[in-house]
Amino acid sequence: MERDLRRNPALLKLDLYCKGMRLDESCLVQEDGGRKVMRTRAGLGSGLELILPGGLWTNVPVTEPFAAQSPYVLHRHNGAYWIHRDGDRVAPVRLSPRPAWYDRTISTGKLATRIGTLQGTYLGIYQAKVCAYWTEEVKVNCKFCSVGLNLGVGDDADEKSIDEVMEVVRAARSESGITYVDFNTGHLEGETYLDILEPYIRRIKRDTGLLVGVQTPPHHDLTRYEALREMGVNRVSFCFEIFDPDVFKEVCPGKHRQYGLPRYLEAVRYCAQLGRKGPRSEPWVTNGEIIAGLEPPESSIEAIDWITSVGAIPTVCVFRPLVGTVYQHLSPPDTDALLPVFRRLYEACMERRLPIGCAPDIHVSLVLLPEEARSLSDRRFRMGEMGRRALAAAAGAYLRRRLRSFDRAREA
Ligand code: SF4
Repeated sequence: MERDLRRNPALLKLDLYCKGMRLDESCLVQEDGGRKVMRTRAGLGSGLELILPGGLWTNVPVTEPFAAQSPYVLHRHNGAYWIHRDGDRVAPVRLSPRPAWYDRTISTGKLATRIGTLQGTYLGIYQAKVCAYWTEEVKVNCKFCSVGLNLGVGDDADEKSIDEVMEVVRAARSESGITYVDFNTGHLEGETYLDILEPYIRRIKRDTGLLVGVQTPPHHDLTRYEALREMGVNRVSFCFEIFDPDVFKEVCPGKHRQYGLPRYLEAVRYCAQLGRKGPRSEPWVTNGEIIAGLEPPESSIEAIDWITSVGAIPTVCVFRPLVGTVYQHLSPPDTDALLPVFRRLYEACMERRLPIGCAPDIHVSLVLLPEEARSLSDRRFRMGEMGRRALAAAAGAYLRRRLRSFDRAREA
């Protein structure tokens, strides 16, 4: 594996997640069109959105105390941005562009970013009320999570009507060229999350043809996922975070009490096999999401092997000790300890011939994707890579055509 950070942007992306970065006084992020640091999506997206060499989008921790000790510093030289490490230039970077619609209010007077924000190049919407684990008398929220901090004054609006969401989706499509909308909810009493999301999903699919994903706790009625598949949903994601049952119970007390790890795993397994069902015009991916750095790397690797064994694709986040969370005092993980985890992420997906990297024009800033982790592995899957790229090209061409026809119909 290439160890030189100048030549291996995936290693740099991982190292920045683990170490964070300081901002030199020369930086003018917002004046130069960059995105404001916002706390979104269970708090994992608390950092500065940047584009690394190789087109790797990332979200670098800059506000947490550990970032103040980082060897990485972002500098601005003659209008260009460079990451320095211990005084040496390591990589030229670009600020992820802040779209014009970020600074606008929508027709109901709400700031557009309180409805949805770009995470990398897709639109993320944290829908519905805050996760119910935060509102119980004795809180049982996940200990890494920041969703319920500063209730009512966060970056997200509590209520978002379909029309409000559609207004932001349209702006993000026409001005930012998004191809994918991701809905995320925490736990809601009565398992109402899919009931709440379905009208939004139907409308987006009907009016825009965009890819849509859903990340909620696992509904007890698994046939609801067949309905989502028929509706044209393209991705379901289940965040069980931790594979070791004892650590899961400790880190995620609410999820343990309400659902239990086996129910998460069953939902992943069940949904992964729905890919064989139609509609064939709609791609379908099931993700099992874990956080590396809160359990031993061997356990994260076990999780990756299990997820891929049932035909799902792992999403591996790097633990970030966010200010205000129960785990704010913990240290971020060590890069070397996580390398085998991300190496395995790529290798396991390739061994199982899973369709990674096929969604067109989607760059993800909050996680290191399986295909991005390729340069952390010494193994080469020549045939597998050729097949993967051919599939990605075909899928990309098909979706771009479809979206163009929706765009034309809307303009007509
Ligand atoms: S389920 Fe856990 S991670 Fe998700 S929003 Fe609730 S407390 Fe946060």
